[in-house]
Parts: sequence; C-alpha cells; structure tokens
Amino acid sequence: MTENDTLFGKIIRREIPATIVYEDEHVLGFKDIAPQAPVHILFIPKQVLIPTLDDLQPEHAELVGRLVLAAAHYAREQGFAEDGYRVVMNCREHAGQTVFHIHLHLLAGTQLGRFGA
Ligand code: IMP
Repeated sequence: MTENDTLFGKIIRREIPATIVYEDEHVLGFKDIAPQAPVHILFIPKQVLIPTLDDLQPEHAELVGRLVLAAAHYAREQGFAEDGYRVVMNCREHAGQTVFHIHLHLLAGTQLGRFGA
C-alpha cells in the first residue's frame, strides 16, 4: 500500500476479496463486510483517491454524480427502488468514518430507522 492507499484500494486492485456487485469505468460497488441492513453496498471511485467529503473539489462534481447514479441504477436493477432505500456518506470522526477513500453507502431491504445523534 502506498502512503495514500486504503483498504478500498486493495479491493479495487483485487488484492483482497470482495463481493463486487457493480462496476463501470469509474465506480466499483461491493457488499459491506458488516451489513447494517439486508442490502448494504458501498460505491467508491476507482481512479481517484479522495479521503473525505471535505476534500471534494469542484472538479469532482461529475464523479460524485457517478457514485449517486450507480447506486440509483443498482437499486432500480435489483428491484428495491420502489420500496425505497437510503444513501449515506460519512465524513470524519463525528460521522464515524473509518475508511478514508470516499464511499457512498446504499442501505435497503427493510424499513430503515430515522437517523441522528
Ligand atoms: P465508513 O464507516 O463510512 O467509513 O464505512 C466504511 C465501511 O467499510 C464500513 O461499513 C465497514 O463495514 C466497511 N468495510 C470495512 N472493511 C471492509 C472490507 O474489507 N470489505 C467490505 N467492506 C468493508
């Protein structure tokens, strides 16, 4: 791993196993190892390492859009868009971020609780 690499870099390079459920040129989607809902997928950028939401720059707008579109596409394709789902991005300590390679959580498959402190 390079200085800026993360666990998710290893998943992108197939150096550690993951259940990959979505892939396009820019985005990889795989099952969360500790699911918080019946469906819990992480969508990550494949080519750019952005540690946190706070590191986003205007030139990342398209990439962030691609993450959201990938999640929405997957939800429709898998047939749970109609019942609904949630997407979440955690930023740093107060949100509980543990992997510093931005990722969009997709949670679905049950009635989700309200969120907050
Ligand atoms: P965060 O807490 O928003 O940073 O989310 C990181 C997520 O990565 C957590 O939900 C973890 O369960 C998940 N995770 C950690 N290691 C792995 C792995 O090796 N494969 C898949 N998911 C992982």
